[in-house]
Amino acid sequence: MRRAIFPGSFDPPTNGHLDIIKRSLPLFDEIIIAVLNNPEKNPMFTVEERCEMIQKILPEVENGKCCLTVDSFSGLTADFARRKQATAIVRGIRAISDYEYELRMALMNRRLEPTIETVFLMAAEEYAYVSSNLMKQVFTLGGRVEGLVPELVENRMREKLG
Ligand code: ADP
Repeated sequence: MRRAIFPGSFDPPTNGHLDIIKRSLPLFDEIIIAVLNNPEKNPMFTVEERCEMIQKILPEVENGKCCLTVDSFSGLTADFARRKQATAIVRGIRAISDYEYELRMALMNRRLEPTIETVFLMAAEEYAYVSSNLMKQVFTLGGRVEGLVPELVENRMREKLG
């Protein structure tokens, strides 16, 4: 049983996240999308709202034989992965700027939990500049994010901003 977690803030989920999920499907039997509960980061969406959005947009993904589930967690990613008996942590890399941070996290997680491997997948070119933060900034200033986040997410951002 090859089980992986895909941890992140997903505040909000973007088409870049969905792309990484799609790329990881053939590699695992089960992928748990693990939403980090991080109230100190002042998220736009609560962890429940983020989980619910992901649940609703997952049917857009042709998951074949891979089982996709959504969960939330607090604390260490390595602890959550161990509790779930996952053997891999999936992360996406968009640019060199992601690499430095991701390398540090992967090495720390390996030290904390040597049996769990971090697997990096390269972003799709068309989403390589897409981040949750950029989507929030642009949307808040009235810019269009159509095609970069799922339609449901765009609607939820609109509702949030009143
Ligand atoms: P975190 O706060 O843990 O970085 P994010 O939700 O921002 O959480 O990102 C979760 C993971 O998804 C990270 O590995 C990040 O690099 C990856 N990711 C985010 N946006 C994209 C994208 N557009 N393309 C590929 N990977 C992405």
